[in-house]
Amino acid sequence: MKIASFNRGRIGVVVDDELVDVTHLQPHAAGAWPPIGMIAFIAAFPTLTTKLERAIQSGERIPLSRAHLEAPVGWPNKVVAYPANYHAHVEEMKTGTGLISTFKADGQGFFLKANSSLSGPCDPIRLPAVSGREIHHECELAIVIGEGGRQIPASQALRHVFGYSCLLDMVIRGKEERVMRKSFDTFCPLGPWIVTADEAPAHDEIELRLLVGGKIRQSAHTRDLIVGIPEMISMASSVMTLHPGDVIATGTPAGVGPVFAGDRLRIEISGIGEMELDVVQDECGNHDVWRKPQ
Ligand code: MN
Repeated sequence: MKIASFNRGRIGVVVDDELVDVTHLQPHAAGAWPPIGMIAFIAAFPTLTTKLERAIQSGERIPLSRAHLEAPVGWPNKVVAYPANYHAHVEEMKTGTGLISTFKADGQGFFLKANSSLSGPCDPIRLPAVSGREIHHECELAIVIGEGGRQIPASQALRHVFGYSCLLDMVIRGKEERVMRKSFDTFCPLGPWIVTADEAPAHDEIELRLLVGGKIRQSAHTRDLIVGIPEMISMASSVMTLHPGDVIATGTPAGVGPVFAGDRLRIEISGIGEMELDVVQDECGNHDVWRKPQ
């Protein structure tokens, strides 16, 4: 099943080229703040099978082309992200950027991105007004957690996957704290929907790629992850209780590079989906911290 957020907090199931509105299957009104309807929907999902079948047969539908798609999870409890999780990307970060990174995700673990950096498939990526700094794209597969838990062993981890989505982990390269460099508004596009785990490819058989202006910049296969998907869930849950709707960015492959206003990014993930995002210049983001020497 493909589950999307659209039109200010509505929840839809994608059927062919239409959306079946299933917002009413959870208790929160569309447009309410905070926008937690999808979290409630994901938490209740195992109990909704019959109601969902009925809704798909007879529910109100709108054409996908007329829907304004949003980040499928807009208000998760947390966005976990794994750095340096493909060998070739670890190598390019040592040589290509001048940054010395000897750690990999299996020894370094994960970090967090601000939840407010999430944006949707219809939202442009807004570059902060920080001149002279490189802002890079990182193309990543996102895991969306279903049933929460703590101390989840890797052998049980896949039971906690609600589904998968496409994610871009945008970042300003440099000396500042990673969470700050990666947490600007729109620095975490997510979408276009969540493909539930039962309909997604096996976790280690997913291909992803990123194109900029039609040219392939990044391509990878999840079998080449340093820390695989079950272990990522296990590691994160060894520290923090995972909750329904939590998002885990699984790390980017080689080929990261700068983006500029006017670029058009296209992320494609096999069996999951694709989205195209415009890059625009924002006037926000300027602060002296970006100009302090290291
Ligand atoms: Mn990343």
